Amino acid sequence: MTATIQPPDSTDIHHWMNNRVFLGTSKDSVAVTNPATGAATGAVRLASGTDARAVIDAAASAFPAWRDTSLTKRTQVLFAFRELLNARKEELAAIITAEHGKVLSDALGEVTRGQEVVEFACGIPHLLKGGFTENASTNVDAYSIRQPLGPVGIISPFNFPAMVPMWFFPVAIAAGNTVVLKPSEKDPSASLWMARLWAEAGLPEGVFNVLQGDKTAVDELLTNPKIKAISFVGSTPIAQYVYATATAAGKRVQALGGAKNHAVILPDADLDVAADAMVNAGFGSAGERCMAISAAVAVGPIADDLVDRIAERAATIKTGDGTKDSDMGPLVTEAHRDKVASYIDAGESDGAKVVLDGRQVSADGAADGFWLGPTLLDNVTPSMSVYTDEIFGPVLSVLRVATYDEALELINSNPYGNGTAIFTNDGGAARRFQNEVEVGMVGINVPIPVPMAYYSFGGWKASLFGDTHAHGTEGVNFFTRAKAITSRWLDPSHGGINLGFPENK
Ligand code: NAD
Repeated sequence: MTATIQPPDSTDIHHWMNNRVFLGTSKDSVAVTNPATGAATGAVRLASGTDARAVIDAAASAFPAWRDTSLTKRTQVLFAFRELLNARKEELAAIITAEHGKVLSDALGEVTRGQEVVEFACGIPHLLKGGFTENASTNVDAYSIRQPLGPVGIISPFNFPAMVPMWFFPVAIAAGNTVVLKPSEKDPSASLWMARLWAEAGLPEGVFNVLQGDKTAVDELLTNPKIKAISFVGSTPIAQYVYATATAAGKRVQALGGAKNHAVILPDADLDVAADAMVNAGFGSAGERCMAISAAVAVGPIADDLVDRIAERAATIKTGDGTKDSDMGPLVTEAHRDKVASYIDAGESDGAKVVLDGRQVSADGAADGFWLGPTLLDNVTPSMSVYTDEIFGPVLSVLRVATYDEALELINSNPYGNGTAIFTNDGGAARRFQNEVEVGMVGINVPIPVPMAYYSFGGWKASLFGDTHAHGTEGVNFFTRAKAITSRWLDPSHGGINLGFPENK
């Protein structure tokens, strides 16, 4: 191993191993930009296979001791991490804004939602309690325990560089696993800040490691036999690839994919409430949220009125630098901004009405920022690419349907099934929707129904490959495996030789 450990340089975005900077051997790197200025602020190292194996080996070496660390001590580290995070979350939010572009208040909200999972994981002693049956057979006790898996890989997307990793690593670590986090190469610095915080909180060396990189790093995580499970979040094609590759390598996998989230607005809904919700959920974080609403489905005669109210509100959104007094920041990269803008072009030429045009935005920020303003498209139909594709930008499409059944059919025939919402004052209609809709997370008069940490986060269909959602008890189950034990301490003679199948007596 020729790699060296050196002090950090904030423009050299490195790996993290054994509670220290790890530079690795690869000389490859890619620029990280501030989306509000367009300027390169650093370069993130792209791991080679050798670098990835070094980090995985560190996580594997740390596993036995961490697994055997008492729950009391593990919980103390979790509490210390929570206290440090809570006290210093503004620092993390600033890092997120600088590399992702979202406004500071939104970045802070992301950290807070991640912190809730840390708080959930502080209850790990309770969550790991097994079952015990005394005298299952005469003088025989039966019990079950849940044990950690080993080193696990977390591969995260650009849009939540702190919260998405925190959906997984607090639970994984609390349960006794060790972690290799592979963040997005677009905004990799948040992961290093969190790694330093773990070290400060007293987490032993090798328990939390960061591997920077691209497909090479990911592929090593997916196939290396020392990695026992993969938690992935990103776009659907990569989620599918990750699921297929890592399960073929015998790993436990949860791979969360892309989304196309619909909100249904019934004729009896409070249209002011619904319009506010569409603006917040469509344009918050510039639409770069997997739970963003991108399709507003107006049912019956309310469509004109709803479109007017959304347009009126969306026109007041201040697009600009996330460190200033802006409502909405830039898109993450120039290429992504151009791609999103090209969808608006396509929607227009396909016949959608551009009610509000983000391509003409005048942003409060540097000329080279990756700006695109809120865009509202009306009369969108299911065959248009603005509807069929996940755009992942500030583009809200309005589809008009005549009935609730048509709205439901639209959602249920969509390949994605991450989040959805219904706006209505009719409890019966809402209850019917919650029962009939084929989507993993449902909001009733709530546009972004992100579950609490003690419930589980995850979509259906092409929005999640695997059968286990993130955090909550599903997360605890994902990061542990069950062991059932049958024990007899009294009557050690076992009744002598008996080749029959053991029976309960
Ligand atoms: P992405 O799929 O491009 O990247 C996700 C991760 O995969 C990154 O770490 C990236 O480095 C890695 N990756 C990219 N290409 C790869 C390849 N060919 N082989 C192996 N690894 C590869 O996603 P993104 O653009 O960073 O994030 C946005 C996407 O994430 C959207 O589709 C969004 O809906 C989705 N997302 C989903 C959820 C959810 O909960 N379902 C949450 C957040 C984001």
